[in-house]
Amino acid sequence: MPGKDSGVYGDPMLAPITALRGVGPSLAQRLHKLGLERVQDLLFLLPLRYEDRTRITPLGELRAGDRALIQAEVQLCEVAYRRRRSLLCSLHDGTGWLTLRMFYFSRSQQAALKPGALIRAFGEVRRGPTALEMIHPEYQLLQGEDSAPPQDTLTPVYPATEGLQQGRLRALVAQALARLEAGGLADLLPAQKLAGRSQPTLVQALHYLHKPPPNARLDQLAAGAHPCQQRLAFEELVAHQLSLRKLRERVRQGKAPVIRPDPALSASYLSSLPFTLTRAQDRVIGEILADLARGEPMMRLVQGDVGCGKTVVATAAALAALGSDYQAALMAPTELLAEQHLATLRGWLQPLGVEVGWLSGRSRGKERTQTLARLASAECKLVVGTHALFQDDVSFARLGLAIIDEQHRFGVHQRLALKQKGERKELQPHQLIMSATPIPRTLAMTAYADLDCSYIDERPPGRKPVTTVAIPESRREDIVARVQRACSEGRQAYWVCPLIDVSENLEAQAAEETAALLAAALQGLRVGLVHGRMKPAEKEKVMGEFSRGEVDVLVATTVIEVGVDVANASLMIVENAERMGLAQLHQLRGRVGRGSEQSSCVLMYKSPLGETARARLEVLRSTDDGFVVAQRDLELRGPGEVLGTRQTGLMQLRVADLLRDAGMLPQVQAVAEKLYQEHGQHTDALIRRWIGQADQYGEV
Ligand code: ADP
Ligand code: MG
Repeated sequence: MPGKDSGVYGDPMLAPITALRGVGPSLAQRLHKLGLERVQDLLFLLPLRYEDRTRITPLGELRAGDRALIQAEVQLCEVAYRRRRSLLCSLHDGTGWLTLRMFYFSRSQQAALKPGALIRAFGEVRRGPTALEMIHPEYQLLQGEDSAPPQDTLTPVYPATEGLQQGRLRALVAQALARLEAGGLADLLPAQKLAGRSQPTLVQALHYLHKPPPNARLDQLAAGAHPCQQRLAFEELVAHQLSLRKLRERVRQGKAPVIRPDPALSASYLSSLPFTLTRAQDRVIGEILADLARGEPMMRLVQGDVGCGKTVVATAAALAALGSDYQAALMAPTELLAEQHLATLRGWLQPLGVEVGWLSGRSRGKERTQTLARLASAECKLVVGTHALFQDDVSFARLGLAIIDEQHRFGVHQRLALKQKGERKELQPHQLIMSATPIPRTLAMTAYADLDCSYIDERPPGRKPVTTVAIPESRREDIVARVQRACSEGRQAYWVCPLIDVSENLEAQAAEETAALLAAALQGLRVGLVHGRMKPAEKEKVMGEFSRGEVDVLVATTVIEVGVDVANASLMIVENAERMGLAQLHQLRGRVGRGSEQSSCVLMYKSPLGETARARLEVLRSTDDGFVVAQRDLELRGPGEVLGTRQTGLMQLRVADLLRDAGMLPQVQAVAEKLYQEHGQHTDALIRRWIGQADQYGEV
C-alpha cells in the first residue's frame, strides 16, 4: 500500500494534495474543484502576474497607477463622513505623504492605526481628492526595528481561485516547492530532446516562475516570453501533441469495414454530375478511398474554402460505402444546411436509384419511427440529418461511414460519440469531417493531431472573386438601390440581418421587420424571409423559391451562414458586419460568387468603427482566400476563438498560447514524435502532468 505521502508511484510529487500540511477534506475539495489533485498540480498552477514587494518605495516616488510596497508612520487617523463613511489615515515617511482609505473597518483597526504607528502596506496608488491614496491596501503594523525585511522574491498572483485566498495558495505552493527541492520532479523532456534550445531544466523553470528574483523582467514575464515560461510551454504542447497522438493510435487500432466503391455506381455518379471534378476534388476523393479500403478506421479532415465543392467529395465517399453494402450518414450542424444537403443529394442520386433518408431533431411520429426502423434494418443505406442522427435511440445496422459537415462546430467529444454509435461486432465506422474554416497547417497539426488532413485547395473553374466593400449604415438608401439594380438585371440578393446575441426570437423579429421594410422599398421585387424560428417546412419552401428564382431578395438571419448554395445570387448584404467574426463574414460572403457572374458583398457597419472591427473589414476587402482570412483571424482573435468554443475545451492550455508559441509547433511535433517512438514510458507521465487524470481524449 502506498503511504499517504508517497503517491501511487512512490513519487512524492504525485502524492494527493492532502499530503500537504493544513490540507483537510474541505480545503481538498475546494482544490479539487480547481483541478488540483496532486502535489505537482500546484506547481503547474502558474502565476498570472507578479507583484514587487521586494523593495520599499519612498512615498515621494509614488505615482498614480503604481502597485507598490510602502513603509511610513501614521500621522493622523480619522473617520470622514463626506459622501461615504470612511477611515482616512495619513502617512508620512520623510519623502512624501500618502492617504490610506478604508470603507470597511473595525473599531480595533481604527484604534491600532494611531499616530506614531509604523505601517507597511501594499496596494495600488490612486489619485485621491487631496493626495495620493491606497484604498484597502494589504497592511501590517510593524513593531519597532524587529520587523521582517521585505520579500526577497517577487510575489506571485495566481489565477482567480474562488474561496481560496492568495496567501493560502502561496503557502501551499511553497510547500510543493520545498518537496520539489527535496525530491525533484522527473524531467520527462531530457536535454538532448530539446537540442538546439538552450533551456532551463524543469525544476529551474518552475522555481523561477513561482519565485522570480527581484530583478526579473516583469514585461517579459507578462508577455509569456521568458525562457522559463517557454520551457514549460514547450513541454505542455508536447504533452498535448502526445495525447492526441495516442488517441489517434488507439482509434487506428480498431477495425473498420473494408470499403471499395462499386465502379459502375461511381462512374454513373460522376457522369451524371453537371460538371467535372477539379483536380483537387479528384485527389481528395482518392485519399479518402485509399483510407476506406484499409480496414482501419479513417479519421480524416477535409479542409477547403467555402465554395470549393466539398459536397461532391462527401457524396462520392458515401457512395463508396454503399458500393460495399455499408450504410453512410451525413450530419450537418443546422437544420437548414441539412435540408439543403438532402435536396442536393436527392438531386444527384435519385436518378441513379439511390434513396436518401432524412432524420432531424424535428422528425416526429410515424415518419421518425419508420426512418429509425429502416436504418436499424439497413433498408435505408444513406441518410442525411442533423445531430439527431447520433442520439441514443438511433441505431444503424451497418454504418460504414459517418460524414460530419462543417466540423468546426463539433468538438472532439462529439467525434468520439459518433464513432461509438456505429460500433458493431468490433467494427468501427470510418469518419470524414469537412471544414470550411481552414486553419493554418501547423495549428491544424496540433489541434487536430488525431486526424489526417486533406486540402481542397482549388476552386471550381470560372469563379470570379467577390468584390467586397464596407459601407456605413447611414448610406442604407444607396445599398437598397444597389439591390434594386442587381435584381432588375435578373440576379438575386441575400440580406443578412443584425445579429442579436440574446435571443433567437428577437433576431427573428428584427428579420421580419427588415423584410417588411425592404418589401416596401423595393419596387416589383419579391422578398422572402428565413429565420431560425420558422418551421422546417416553411424554411424549405422559401429556400426552394429562392433557389428556383421565384424570390429575388432573401432576408435571413445568420442561419444561412453555412452551406447554402444558390448560384444565381450575386449580391450579399450583411448588416452590422462590425459585430461579426472574420470566419463568419467569410462564410456569408461565400454564399455568393458561386456562378460565373461578378458578385459583390456589402458589409454594412454602424459608425464609429472600433479598431479591431476596422481591421477585420479591411482583411475581407483585401483578400478572398479562406486560408489568409483564417491566418489573420488567428492573429486578431487568438486560437481559442478560431478553433471554436468547443475546441477550446480540448486545448485548455495553462502556459502555452497557440498563437504566441506557433513558432515552436514544428519542433514540438518533431520532439513529440521522437518521444513517442523512443521513450514511450514518458508519454503517459507527461500527459498526466499536463492534462491531468481525466485524460480527456485518451479514454476512447
Ligand atoms: P462547399 O465546399 O462550400 O461545401 P459546395 O459543395 O456547396 O461547396 O459547392 C459549391 C458549388 O460549387 C455547388 O453549386 C457545387 O455544385 C459547385 N461545384 C462543386 N464542384 C464543382 C466543380 N468541380 N465544377 C463546377 N462546379 C462545382
Ligand atoms: Mg458545404
